[in-house]
Amino acid sequence: MKKILTALSILLIGVSAQAQKVSSYEIDVHFFPKDAQMWGYAVSDDAFMRGNTSIEFSEITADVLTFYLHGELKIDSITSGVNHIEYTSEKVLYENNYSLVGLKTSFNTSSITSGKKLRIHYSGFMNPSRARSLSDYMRINKDDGVYLRANYYSLWFPVFLLPDEDDYEVEFKKITLKLPANFKAVVSGELLEEVSGKKYYTAYWKPGLTKMSDIQCTARKYDVISKENLSIYHISNPEQGETIIDFVEQLKTLFSSNLRNIHNTTPLYIIEMPEYGNISSQNVIGISTDVYDQFEDDLYSKRTIAHELVHPYVSIPIAKNDPFSALITEGFPSFFYLYGLERILSKEDFDLKDYMKRVEKSYIKKKQTGKDRRGNPLPIEKPILKIAFDEIGHYKDLFILPDRASLFLYHLWANMGDQKYDLFLRELFQLDSIDYDKFERLIENYIPNYSNNLNTWLNTTEYPQSLHIKD
Ligand SMILES: [Zn+2]
Repeated sequence: MKKILTALSILLIGVSAQAQKVSSYEIDVHFFPKDAQMWGYAVSDDAFMRGNTSIEFSEITADVLTFYLHGELKIDSITSGVNHIEYTSEKVLYENNYSLVGLKTSFNTSSITSGKKLRIHYSGFMNPSRARSLSDYMRINKDDGVYLRANYYSLWFPVFLLPDEDDYEVEFKKITLKLPANFKAVVSGELLEEVSGKKYYTAYWKPGLTKMSDIQCTARKYDVISKENLSIYHISNPEQGETIIDFVEQLKTLFSSNLRNIHNTTPLYIIEMPEYGNISSQNVIGISTDVYDQFEDDLYSKRTIAHELVHPYVSIPIAKNDPFSALITEGFPSFFYLYGLERILSKEDFDLKDYMKRVEKSYIKKKQTGKDRRGNPLPIEKPILKIAFDEIGHYKDLFILPDRASLFLYHLWANMGDQKYDLFLRELFQLDSIDYDKFERLIENYIPNYSNNLNTWLNTTEYPQSLHIKD
């Protein structure tokens, strides 16, 4: 089905140039506004939203620009400075939106003022999809709340990307959300301010430089419990919130004593979600109600939280064009969160060796077949130090960065033993720069004659028997 749709959408677009890149967004959205009638909608339409987005381009070279929104939305106006911009909109088959229908809008760039800024006003509905799987739970509903993800899922702000183009990072300067007074809203990044009036609640978020696929938006009638930089947005069961806070505290203490001793000021938001809403979007982690209620028994959500949490504790300052950038940016987090879980959970709840054996098995299978668990083709394997910074997205979560990188870091642990490994980690995360020689010297202090193995792990794609996990 997916393949046919891609072929169709390529036909629909025809031959077109690459889309122009957006440099910044400011988004203002009002969910279920009372004045829907004024905009030509019936007042009872409780899935209604009204948005206005300011968009800035660093340069505009194309004569015509095209953007996409969710298919039930329509454009109210497009302006640039005092100029009203003419546009054409049509509903198209669009894979990167949960309903499979997108609103495609194109306009001529000649009326964009020299500031290269645009403002797009749009409004309409987001009803649940009947077209795809249950995990497409995205919707806006006055009683349920607002469940929106981002690019590839539910387009609640204009996305200037052709359907086959890859997502990229944009500066999201500010996102303003307005809802009835009993709601609370979470986007991602930093919560600047919340204002609760008699009738309305307004939240101001600053995601900052973020991929368009990480701008989720959730609003429900939440209660919030917070401790330091952690906030739990829940609907029921506040005791469970305390359990999650304890778990996070334990990990933070362990990470700062055994890895890098930082004062972690990154806020983390954990939000209770409807069924299928287990998501991870930058510093926001969604946990569905059934998982939230049984958090003690759920390894998946513990893993997700631990992974998001470990990032700042295992980062070593590194230039984007450095060969170590992919290993440090996503390779280290993909193993050291497991290290954290091994240390704080009982063997009954989490057995790292068992877990790593499963990683090994799946890695070997992926190498043999070139396909992931679901049979989708994987990117071609590269040595770890050959993965460029902008290729991290292709390899994280599915192949080399979680699998080979974690097998490597586990191999070091297995060879050093617990005590030496902890000393090694303390030294490693004192570093404020890294290069191959430094890294090699540090490892050889703990495992003499490891240099051949190190070369195999980092500079080749070989996985010889000698590096396999021993029984
Ligand atoms: Zn990560």
